[in-house]
Amino acid sequence: MSVFLYDTYARELREFIPIKEGTVGLYACGPTVYDYAHIGNLRTYLFEDILRRVLEFNDYKVRHVVNITDVGHLTSDADSGEDKMEAGSRRTGKTAWEIAATYTEEFKSDIQHLNILEPALWCRATDHIDEQIESIAMIEQRGAAYRTDDGIYFDTATLPDYGYLARLDIDGLRSGIRVEEGDKRNPTDFALWKFSKPEEQRQMEWDSPWGKGFPGWHIECSAMAAKYLGTLFDIHCGGKDHIPIHHTNEIAQSQACFDTHLANYWLHGYFLEIDQGKMSKSSGEFLRMQTLFDKGYDPLSYRYLCLTAHYRTDLKFTWESLDSATVALQRLRNSVHSWGTPSVADENSMAQFRGFVNDDLNTPRALALAWDIAKGSLPNDVKKATLLEFDRVFGLKLAEWSPETIPAEVLEMVSEREAARAAKDWARADELRAAIDALGYDVEDGAEGSVAKRRN
Ligand code: AMP
Ligand code: ZN
Repeated sequence: MSVFLYDTYARELREFIPIKEGTVGLYACGPTVYDYAHIGNLRTYLFEDILRRVLEFNDYKVRHVVNITDVGHLTSDADSGEDKMEAGSRRTGKTAWEIAATYTEEFKSDIQHLNILEPALWCRATDHIDEQIESIAMIEQRGAAYRTDDGIYFDTATLPDYGYLARLDIDGLRSGIRVEEGDKRNPTDFALWKFSKPEEQRQMEWDSPWGKGFPGWHIECSAMAAKYLGTLFDIHCGGKDHIPIHHTNEIAQSQACFDTHLANYWLHGYFLEIDQGKMSKSSGEFLRMQTLFDKGYDPLSYRYLCLTAHYRTDLKFTWESLDSATVALQRLRNSVHSWGTPSVADENSMAQFRGFVNDDLNTPRALALAWDIAKGSLPNDVKKATLLEFDRVFGLKLAEWSPETIPAEVLEMVSEREAARAAKDWARADELRAAIDALGYDVEDGAEGSVAKRRN
């Protein structure tokens, strides 16, 4: 059975045909590590995880590559504003390198809590400065780059179909917007390399044929994706905000360097919204994994919540919806646990399930089917085998859960409490004990450390 995916480039549902039979090259734009990821970012990584799991469910061998954006970059997409990493450094007193390392580890821990499969390869922008310089040199040789006072820019007027991915109205843009940024030739031109300013003390800067500075944001992805997946690979994804700028520019760079539009399918996850609209990292306040932990939520409840919405619809986050997801997940776990030993999955249900997930990852319908089965009349051993098969895509760890399982958020609080005790922060340790207690667990401190036990 074929997998159908909505390709933003073609603006239609397309049957997935791999470049090389049986394999998929998948590149997902990774986190900018100057701060924690918020749960909106994590929704995008959950969508990409479901995509990968659906492809694997269809027996494809997926090579999943994710980058870590650890180079500064600027707070505005228009190549101006403050450098995020350097600003983070000033805010915390750590070096830009320490900041990047800290938030990379935090990100990896977040995705682990959400049961997101590790990519085959993580690639850091700062480890690939040479590749980026090479790409820029290639673009320059092709006559698509020019120099201004503050950097090397991509000349978007050299590409007749620049902006096609986003269906940008280039003529409208050219006539409607004044070119404000330095001496850029066209409003859509973007930085490939920015020069370090003599008056600023940058922690992250490199020598290049054009002068000391640092790469623009878009070049890291097209350079690293081409290095690890080839100059034309299967699927490139990210959040929908990447359509008009970041991915549009990755495509422009790849056209200039390799005459390809980098990936055969471009997939985009829609946003998680909070009351005030989209959740954003640079606007300050945001919810992160730890916020959910602190409130006693199991991260897999958030995963469940994301499965209830199609990835191509915005999802409004409310605490009530997370509560409902928590209850639903717990019911599903209890049911699956109570069904005893699994036998063989029901063929008919498996075919239906495959139909839903292969139809552009329709997880809401797949979940509804899981509930129909749970409430239906199949024998328990068959129900269990079927739902465990579904869980290869859902990733809710249904097989692993039992009433004795200590939830991840409790384990997290236990280790945080141990750290507080080690730091002699008794007030925080007591606070954590009370929070653990409120969830129905006791903490026992022994020579080997502290353990949580479920209270009967
Ligand atoms: P960043 O770390 O800011 O580069 O973002 C990481 C990923 O999260 C990108 O793929 C973004 O498109 C995506 N993203 C940013 N904000 C949201 C949001 N509110 N909901 C869903 N995805 C988002
Ligand atoms: Zn990217």
